[in-house]
Amino acid sequence: MINRSAHLSADAAAGVTAGAASGAMAGVTAGATTGAADITQSFPLPTVRGRYAFAFDLSKVTWFKVGGMAEVLFRPKDAEDLVSFIKDKDPMMPVTMLGAGSNVLVRDGGIKGVVIKLGAGFADILFHYTPPLAAVKPSESATSAESAESELATTASASAAESPSATAAAEVIVGGACLDRTLVLACAEKGLSGLEFLVGVPGTIGGAIAMNAGAYGFEIKDFLNWVEIVNTDGSMTRLSAASLSMGYRKGNLPKGAIIVRASFALQNGDPAVIHTAVTAYLQQREDTQPVRGRTGGSTFKNPTGMTAWKLIDQAGCRGLSINDAYVSEKHCNFLLNRDAAKAADLEQLGERVRQAVKEASGVDLEWEIIRLGE
Ligand SMILES: Cc1cc2nc3c(=O)[nH]c(=O)nc-3n(C[C@H](O)[C@H](O)[C@H](O)COP(=O)(O)OP(=O)(O)OC[C@H]3O[C@@H](n4cnc5c(N)ncnc54)[C@H](O)[C@@H]3O)c2cc1C
Repeated sequence: MINRSAHLSADAAAGVTAGAASGAMAGVTAGATTGAADITQSFPLPTVRGRYAFAFDLSKVTWFKVGGMAEVLFRPKDAEDLVSFIKDKDPMMPVTMLGAGSNVLVRDGGIKGVVIKLGAGFADILFHYTPPLAAVKPSESATSAESAESELATTASASAAESPSATAAAEVIVGGACLDRTLVLACAEKGLSGLEFLVGVPGTIGGAIAMNAGAYGFEIKDFLNWVEIVNTDGSMTRLSAASLSMGYRKGNLPKGAIIVRASFALQNGDPAVIHTAVTAYLQQREDTQPVRGRTGGSTFKNPTGMTAWKLIDQAGCRGLSINDAYVSEKHCNFLLNRDAAKAADLEQLGERVRQAVKEASGVDLEWEIIRLGE
């Protein structure tokens, strides 16, 4: 077990090991933290080119600004680094994927094992104006990791027939850590239309695909050609969107898959019109959602044919609170951390809302927010 007080005191230093970090080195660097010693003793950490941080306070990287520690936070340098980490790590070591943390509630006891967060090495945006997709090879723009993936081009050709890019004006290939908003604005600059609806979704492309993010009648799956994933054995696969059978807030990825890149099909558009749409989407959010609060967005999925916020409102839960956790007055499917809420307050509040809705309408609300840890 992790010694949490040791972790807290060591957190400022965060035991961050930059550059080439090995299991042995990790143990030494983080020697001041009992927790780091615990995990490296149970599961020696592989040598990586990215960074390990020990006893990392996850409230710093989640939108709710709550949650305990990750025993280890690993930020791989690039896809090659991620692949070798997954291949070399102890298969029993738990791994949890985190994007921008905008759809997760990390519990106060933290997350055991390694939390992986992709960074700048996974944020490239590449435009291809001459589909078909079969012509796209992980080459011109390839990073060193990508050159090892040449076999993926074959799979891409196979999926081209069922891909939305067959009729698209352009294809954009984007890293899993790119923020939705960054991608939308880059597309707008190029006069490429399709993903504007994502502009106010504050996550990464990896998180958006994992959740099949949607808004204003669109879902990310409608524009997705393919996704490249690192599997739990460290192999890389390119999967066509059609093969995933994505659904409402469900990416349906293979268990434990880590999204490193994805391809989307876009249409030509007038940059001025696209910018107007983007501005309108952002304004609509400002008007209707507490977008500047400490929140995880919509807490519950909309049951078929119903809207969660209406059920919550009818159950009298608007404004309900537990300590510093409260139900938004502005959009009552959003929970907020006023300041010092614990994850337990937010989760209990969510459960209280579910119970009230069940009593008032007989409907069982399903959590959309992913609750992680213990
Ligand atoms: C103010 C606000 C407004 C929002 N509005 C919307 C909205 O309109 N529509 C909507 O759909 N959502 C909305 N959300 C929820 C959230 O932004 C989306 O679900 C977003 O796509 C999550 O992305 P993320 O990178 O933050 O993922 P995280 O919250 O970090 O993770 C979510 C899930 O995705 C997994 N994941 C993340 N990255 C990867 C990866 N690279 N590979 C594999 N799995 C991964 C995680 O393991 C986790 O299970 C909103 C949230 C907020 C705070």
